[in-house]
Amino acid sequence: MGNTTTTAVVVTGGASGIGLASATALAEQGRNVALWDLNAEAAEAAAADLASRFGVSAIGLSVDVSDAANYPGAIEASKAVVGPIGGLVHAAGTVQVEPVGSITREVWDFVLSINLTAFPMLVQALLPELLANPGSAVVGISSIEGWIGNAAIPAYCASKAGMLGTVRSMAQHLGPQGVRVNAVCPGYIETPMLAPSLTIGDLKANMESSAPLGRLGEPREIGEPVAFLLSSGASFITGQSFIVDGGTTAID
Ligand code: NAD
Repeated sequence: MGNTTTTAVVVTGGASGIGLASATALAEQGRNVALWDLNAEAAEAAAADLASRFGVSAIGLSVDVSDAANYPGAIEASKAVVGPIGGLVHAAGTVQVEPVGSITREVWDFVLSINLTAFPMLVQALLPELLANPGSAVVGISSIEGWIGNAAIPAYCASKAGMLGTVRSMAQHLGPQGVRVNAVCPGYIETPMLAPSLTIGDLKANMESSAPLGRLGEPREIGEPVAFLLSSGASFITGQSFIVDGGTTAID
């Protein structure tokens, strides 16, 4: 069965890295995309690029996803360009180094508000659209750090593990209404977010050797599975956490 889903997809964090790669894979399948990002200029440029390369409708918008008050205007502006919305990828994210002993409530709340809380709030705001359009589906970008610990970034780990519980809960609620909800958990992927870590000591070599495939992942290698989970080819998949990590978490 090919991808017969044709509705547009909102991609948060769509201006860069995994969000942009997801939007690219979706546009390649012929899906219209709305890129919501803090970085308006990059989102607009990416939307123009996808529209010209793949002949889809695309819009790039400045949206801070940590504030749900920004969603209604963004939904209306998106629909005006990309039409009915039947998908969401929540890829906007942040990582802040604050190990236990130096956690501040301000940074903890900041990380959770973007990585975790925005996810169900976005789904809720988009619900009338998702319910109105057959084949709707949602993908949250979690992380292998939703499964394994990382001492430096407890708020990030909490946000990514929290997303997995949120996925299972929303999958149960929305399944009977025809909306699928899944998470993708990337391993170490070469994006601007990971870049600062790659210059620290032998961290890059350690990340590469942690994976049986012996390398970092490319953003495209996450974008493709995300686009699949939003397609009709994944019509019986919901409530799942799909680890895409070159095998890092499969071995000791
Ligand atoms: P990235 O920095 O390339 O992209 C993140 C994007 O999110 C940026 O364009 C940024 O402007 C946007 N963003 C940040 N805060 C926002 C906000 N409040 N509102 C709207 N947009 C906002 O990083 P990436 O690696 O592509 O990260 C994408 C997602 O993948 C994140 O959720 C990240 O936690 C997750 N992830 C990344 C890796 C990795 O190795 N790179 C691994 C696992 C999970």
